Amino acid sequence: MSQDFDVIVIGGGPAGYPCAIRAAQNKLKVACIDEWQNRDGSYAFGGTCLNAGCIPSKALLESTELFHRAQTEFAAHGITVGAVQMDVAAMQARKAKIVKGSTMGILALFKSAGVTALQGHGKLLKGNRVEFIGRDGAKQELIAKHVVLASGSTPMALPSVPFDNDRVVDSWGALEFAAVPKKLGVIGAGVIGLELGSVWRRLGAEVVVLEALDTFLPMADAAVAKEALRHFQKQGLDIRLGAKVTGCEKSKDGVLLQFADAKGNQSVVVEKVVVAIGRRPYTAELLGEGAGVELDARGFIKVDHDCRTGAANVWAIGDVVRGPMLAHKGKEEGVVVADLIAGKVGEVNYDLIPSVIYTAPEIAWVGKTEEQVKQAGGAYKVGTFPFLASGRARAMEAANGFCKIVADKDSDEILGVHIIGPMAGELIAEAVLAMEYSASTEDLQRTMHAHPTLSEAMHEAALNADKLAIDIPNR
Ligand SMILES: Cc1cc2nc3c(=O)[nH]c(=O)nc-3n(C[C@H](O)[C@H](O)[C@H](O)COP(=O)(O)OP(=O)(O)OC[C@H]3O[C@@H](n4cnc5c(N)ncnc54)[C@H](O)[C@@H]3O)c2cc1C
Repeated sequence: MSQDFDVIVIGGGPAGYPCAIRAAQNKLKVACIDEWQNRDGSYAFGGTCLNAGCIPSKALLESTELFHRAQTEFAAHGITVGAVQMDVAAMQARKAKIVKGSTMGILALFKSAGVTALQGHGKLLKGNRVEFIGRDGAKQELIAKHVVLASGSTPMALPSVPFDNDRVVDSWGALEFAAVPKKLGVIGAGVIGLELGSVWRRLGAEVVVLEALDTFLPMADAAVAKEALRHFQKQGLDIRLGAKVTGCEKSKDGVLLQFADAKGNQSVVVEKVVVAIGRRPYTAELLGEGAGVELDARGFIKVDHDCRTGAANVWAIGDVVRGPMLAHKGKEEGVVVADLIAGKVGEVNYDLIPSVIYTAPEIAWVGKTEEQVKQAGGAYKVGTFPFLASGRARAMEAANGFCKIVADKDSDEILGVHIIGPMAGELIAEAVLAMEYSASTEDLQRTMHAHPTLSEAMHEAALNADKLAIDIPNR
């Protein structure tokens, strides 16, 4: 194997692998190094997202949502089935198959693009040299004109409730349960905690979610967060806000979780605990002496707007740098960096990163919340449309939630779109595209939307911003 490359990418997750592929598309000689190892010791590209994050969680969310709907909705459609049962082993086997197919797919993509796939550990040394330790333990030194660091992130631990990979697990562990826990404690009501809590709740676990903050989903539009909390509570998620976990005691019956909230010191006994309090950047053994790459106080690799580190021709992308820890944000950074390396133009629009929570109802947003717009002080208008008034949503038995558009009152430019309801994560793409082109609500109003579709909710919300909605009374 030649030791010289134009680009070496360290990390083959959703930030690193697209960067490697785009760099190869740009006719550069590329290697991508990744050390991800599954629990059985097998190596796999795809990072957290494909192996232990986005993909397996969505596989389980889909299975459990179908299970839930079979129990609660089929009768409304006139469908009679016997007792609906969930075979957890079969559900997990399906998930594993999807994950394997996706991660193997990356190797196939690398082959077709001409990227050299290297499985093992990579470390940046001084002068754009990279130490690579392969699966067999053999060490070699590689050189590249450009090095891209895409080493990702790892779950944050809570010292008072340490992981034991059995009763106290991280998000990966919670995706691997072989049986439904009778009672599950989830620490953290963020995106991951809510998705994982939903999975096991739908299968019958009692789920208590302990969240230290007093506000539910503070990053979302307040109206959406309020609607979401109502639905999750109705589904039986016992969400305790302002609940700071202080410790735990393990016994053979489970885990006694101690926490303090407005009522004082409390405790709850659960069978399993998922600690989902966030993730931190991962840079263990990544940077050698004199590599010239700096970390900030929170451990993120310091980069400029275009993902350049302080070291010449060394870039960093994805979860290991500032910004939301999202696969699509990392992917965009990877592609842009590969283009910049090739001398092309490119820029990530950090103002328009969509967020999605894959619960039921689904939640998605892009741009500014109404609260942020209000705080900025400019005149604004709001249009909303409830899915209850959507023929398609009603036909789907999924008429919960609404679509909300916040726009500048004077220029009419759309500033933010917030959706809670069916397929919100798909619907938000229209909003991202519209906002990329600085669309106004009038642009959306004059865009024909097929009937009957869920996307009509966006159309009607845009019309409602000017009190022109057709399918709801305008207020
Ligand atoms: C349960 C869960 C659900 C999620 N769901 C979503 C979702 O629905 N949508 C979404 O956008 N995001 C989701 N995320 C977040 C998403 O997984 C991350 O934002 C994304 O994986 C970050 O990509 P990355 O490439 O920066 O890092 P990673 O995916 O963490 O990949 C980094 C890779 O680099 C490797 N590596 C690290 N250091 C070295 C080294 N020195 N040498 C070689 N290899 C190295 C790691 O082993 C890993 O394979 C979820 C996360 C979790 C945990």
